[in-house]
Amino acid sequence: MKQRICGLCKTPLSPGAPACMGCQGAVVYGARLKEMQGAFVRGAALGATTTGAVWISAWGISSHALVAAGVGAMLCAMAFILAERRSHAGHVRTYRRTR
Ligand SMILES: [Zn+2]
Repeated sequence: MKQRICGLCKTPLSPGAPACMGCQGAVVYGARLKEMQGAFVRGAALGATTTGAVWISAWGISSHALVAAGVGAMLCAMAFILAERRSHAGHVRTYRRTR
């Protein structure tokens, strides 16, 4: 496996270490929780509006449109999270700890 180095202080990171030995920065493997949450919100908003709009134009406004929008939101949110995870796969980043 390739040796990773800290993006902040260039200290080599031991594999799987939660923090950098040099600068004590937090090491993040793959996507961060905040990025996943952002992807979830974007996906849910897109899924709800597109599914809702398509449903309403085809079958009119009803309680079923709400259910469809909810299902569309969930499916789209999951797809966005998967895409976000994939875009950060194999990334190792170091973040300065905020005190
Ligand atoms: Zn460091």
